[in-house]
Amino acid sequence: MPSLVWFRRDLRTNDNTALYHACTSSKDAVIGVYAITPGQWKMHNDANCKIGFWLENLKLLSDSLAKLNIPLLIIKCETFDQSVTEILKLTRKHKIGAIYVNKEYEVNETRRDSDLKNACAKKGIEFYSFHDRVVVPPREISTKEGKFYSVFTPYRKNWDSRALEYSKLFPKPRKRDETLIEPDGIPSKVTGFDLGDFRDDLWPAGEEEANKRIRHFAKHISGYDTNRDLPSVNGTSLLSPYLTAGVISPRQCLNAALEVNSEKIAMASGPTTWISELTWRDFYTHVMVGFPRVSMNRPFKQKTDGIGWRKDVADFQAWKTGQTGYPIVDAGMRQLNQTGWMHNRLRMVTAMFLSKHLLIDWRMGEEYFMNRLIDGDLAANNGGWQWSASTGTDAVPYFRIFNPFSQSKRFDCDGKYIKKFCPELENIPASALHDAKKLAAALNERSAEYPEFIVDHKSARERVLEEFKSL
Ligand code: FAD
Repeated sequence: MPSLVWFRRDLRTNDNTALYHACTSSKDAVIGVYAITPGQWKMHNDANCKIGFWLENLKLLSDSLAKLNIPLLIIKCETFDQSVTEILKLTRKHKIGAIYVNKEYEVNETRRDSDLKNACAKKGIEFYSFHDRVVVPPREISTKEGKFYSVFTPYRKNWDSRALEYSKLFPKPRKRDETLIEPDGIPSKVTGFDLGDFRDDLWPAGEEEANKRIRHFAKHISGYDTNRDLPSVNGTSLLSPYLTAGVISPRQCLNAALEVNSEKIAMASGPTTWISELTWRDFYTHVMVGFPRVSMNRPFKQKTDGIGWRKDVADFQAWKTGQTGYPIVDAGMRQLNQTGWMHNRLRMVTAMFLSKHLLIDWRMGEEYFMNRLIDGDLAANNGGWQWSASTGTDAVPYFRIFNPFSQSKRFDCDGKYIKKFCPELENIPASALHDAKKLAAALNERSAEYPEFIVDHKSARERVLEEFKSL
């Protein structure tokens, strides 16, 4: 009987656990399927550019699968619940004997898969699901007491000792016998999403592109330690959209780093630090699985619910549009709005600015990021926001509040990044970009049109410290 592989956030043919197992377990036809679920995507606040990127990748995935004689079918429905019904219809139409999926760990996704598994059991269809989205599966690592970790360093220690066990790659399946089933076309529109926001000049789709990026990055990985915090330098891998859509696997990334690191997790500083970022990715998924409240709009540190978070519309709007009067914050937000991506250092700076300087509810920022990011991932985004707002696991201590000027002086000293995204500051001397008084004087002197600060650093700092101390 034919088997069905349901692709979700694993849009690749290489090192795809579910696809590999479907192809090696059966001599009969293997059919791929993907569900377009705009209603659910809206509920999840997915960004226009992310959906645009996914569709482009789907086209290439469909081509690659067709070369293996695996047709990719597309089902269209609104929600995950409906997608289960549609998948079951397909199983009847094509007399499917087994379904293969790679696990998704979010709450709605887990429920959907468990509904499908139960329905399959009733109908005598085999259902196989595999860990594939992270290197080390979330429940495979636990504290001595058998609990989920909430602190990164001991998690990382444990992860380091286990990661090689999970680093084996699954080869691309061999070409199969021809099938009479034709692949479906990939839609170029999705109701409710403006796919024009997707910048294919910045984020070309496909496994080939992702592999090109990792090969290129591996050549420069030794400098990652020093360059990763400089937003004007391409010092990071720029792989997050590909990892989020599963166009490349975290195992492929780990292997690329191991290759230049004498096959060891800890060795040279560049590759080891980069592997540590992959570990953060696993860690936040581990946290989301262990403490599901974090994906339900609740802080990890529950008492921080008592903070009087503001919901000031005007300040929030200034932050969203990059009009706060703090050049480094504005440059970061404009990079996000223009490209669908933001450098990690800037994600921390802008998130901390919203939650600490403006004392605006971090969940509003989390939602805005998700709605704009091409790499938007619930676990990583929530983890990053709760870290910045000091409400999360292993969060930055509440009294450590980035001064935006010190941050820009340290990480964008010549102002190259700021000037790229804030062209109205082009003629302002770099030194003035990192100093409140000098900036005001330089703006005045040159009559440059740039907003005044919406909040003063010192008083904002005192306000948020008081809130945290009052808990
Ligand atoms: P590299 O530095 O090359 O790192 C390699 C990979 O490791 C990344 O592609 C990513 O998959 C992973 N990674 C790196 N840093 C982190 C981290 N701190 N947490 C989790 N994974 C990490 N990352 C997302 O993938 N999606 C998000 O929605 C997201 N939202 C964030 C929100 C905030 C407030 C913060 C502070 C961070 C967020 N990050 C998110 C983490 C990080 O900023 C991005 O992964 C990184 O900037 C992507 O660029 P890169 O691929 O060049 O990363």
